[in-house]
Amino acid sequence: MKAAIPFIWETHGVHVGTGKDHVKHGIDDIRAAVERAIEQGFPSLSFVIHSPRLTSFRYQSERDTEVKFIRGDAAFFNYAETMEALKHRYARRIRLRYGIELEWMGPELGLQWNRSKLFQAYGLDFVIGSVHFSYQGIPYDGSQEDTDRLIELRGGLEAFWAGYLDEMIEMIDTSWEMIHVVGHLDLPKLYAPMPEQMKDVEHSAHFLARRMRTLLEMIGDLNLALDVNLSGLRKGCGLYPDLELLKRARQLHIPIAIGSDSHRIEEIGRDYEQGITMAREAGYRHYVTFSRGITEKRPLSEENDGHFRILNLGVEILKLRFEPRYRQKTPHFSFGGSFRSLLPLFDDSVSLGVYNALRVRRDDRSITLSDDSAEARDGIAVDGGLICLYSHHTDTPGTLSILFNTLASEAINVETTQLYSLFDGSATAFLSVSGAEDRIRQAVDFVMGTASDRFFSIEIDSRIELPPLKAAPAYLLEVDGVSLPIPISGHMVITLHNNRPGILLILLSALASRGVNIMDLQLGSRGERGFAVLGIEGDERSVAAVLTELGPQFYEATQIVLPALDIEESSPLSRG
Ligand SMILES: [Zn+2]
Ligand SMILES: [Zn+2]
Repeated sequence: MKAAIPFIWETHGVHVGTGKDHVKHGIDDIRAAVERAIEQGFPSLSFVIHSPRLTSFRYQSERDTEVKFIRGDAAFFNYAETMEALKHRYARRIRLRYGIELEWMGPELGLQWNRSKLFQAYGLDFVIGSVHFSYQGIPYDGSQEDTDRLIELRGGLEAFWAGYLDEMIEMIDTSWEMIHVVGHLDLPKLYAPMPEQMKDVEHSAHFLARRMRTLLEMIGDLNLALDVNLSGLRKGCGLYPDLELLKRARQLHIPIAIGSDSHRIEEIGRDYEQGITMAREAGYRHYVTFSRGITEKRPLSEENDGHFRILNLGVEILKLRFEPRYRQKTPHFSFGGSFRSLLPLFDDSVSLGVYNALRVRRDDRSITLSDDSAEARDGIAVDGGLICLYSHHTDTPGTLSILFNTLASEAINVETTQLYSLFDGSATAFLSVSGAEDRIRQAVDFVMGTASDRFFSIEIDSRIELPPLKAAPAYLLEVDGVSLPIPISGHMVITLHNNRPGILLILLSALASRGVNIMDLQLGSRGERGFAVLGIEGDERSVAAVLTELGPQFYEATQIVLPALDIEESSPLSRG
């Protein structure tokens, strides 16, 4: 067994205090929490805020102090903004994540209330769905007295648990589209013993075991993650969920998200090792975290750490290619070469043989990545019958579109392109084109004659040595199985379009019109479909706006923005 890692990228992490309009809850000095995490060498810290509750769902302390807007209306309203500012402030030092713990308050007003509250937390990384209150408004994690009262009201311990499980099932049934993680599965065990039959999901026919099975199967089928919540360890009731339930979750392929559910600075990072040990004992080898609702996978031991980083880049790129509502679907994986060590860690993954790459796929889309630039170079092939152009020009917005524009004017189609910024103000491009050779020469002469301020040289040949791909933490090798070798960078665009002359020109002109500079470009095609992958530098919103206006010849235009730290953490190589 490999040594356990001492750090966990949390999901259900540090609860933030929420200003003046609530009872004290969580940490008010969030900067102190971040500084503490940096001090401890953590690469990440995750914040959570409770969604506001209706006044009929209150803890005793809140009733005693007559607090009405529990967890702070104003504080909740400003949460996303506060967190974004914090993310920015610490962008180079630590990866901050934030989400909300959505409070289940029944399927009526409570559900509509929750829907409305989600709009106030736009941009968050994850939503945890939790049941803290019975429908009568009595909390499960309030006090021994509360719990005893609820047990009595329901007519016994088994009925008490049955009621809780029903509420969990109803919460998931009605809220699954709003949430990513199911919070502390067996929370009421804090003050009430858990009947043994309820844990014996493997054998028992007891109604509590049956309900627990249903609950776990729903979580699995709806593709939600389970909160492995370490707070139970320090509260003395054991990990949420119980190890037997965690084993069942593993059988059902339910991903786990781990968190300390901290409410004080001292609790940050506590009990990680025990949590990891228990997750491994249940059969888990990786866990998940969330970035803007997109699942990332992380290993429970140090092995394969680098490979997981590349895997996450692949997952993120693939999911961004889907509409947001489809992003929760689980992708499938294929692993080859050195990545084959991931095969036993992922159910249903298949081998790519000696091909040193990993593929993330779902439905008709796939992304193939590698950390191996030689593998990327292998994908560069120029078919016979094509003519090659090798251009050296200024690295400025619009330059490339001049060349493409002129080629299009002579009815010449660009089949493949490789572009390299030389980081000295100039760039080179290698193009393979199809068309009559004399017209290609005319196009080149025209460019050299009219734009000599931008073009230093354009050579026409079919035997030109390719420059090496520039050093990068990872390389994109293929999109949907089409070879498109290009270094991964922090800002990229992928398009699928009709593979006709001039179509690409629309994209290049559109980007040039917004001052977007193209750093890398790779083109490919399969039949009628053209593919373009671009590494760019430009304003994110301008790019988003322009990509919606490309017209019906473009079947897909996806902008990919990867946070700088995600790229950097993949490799010691710096990006200039
Ligand atoms: Zn909670
Ligand atoms: Zn919590």
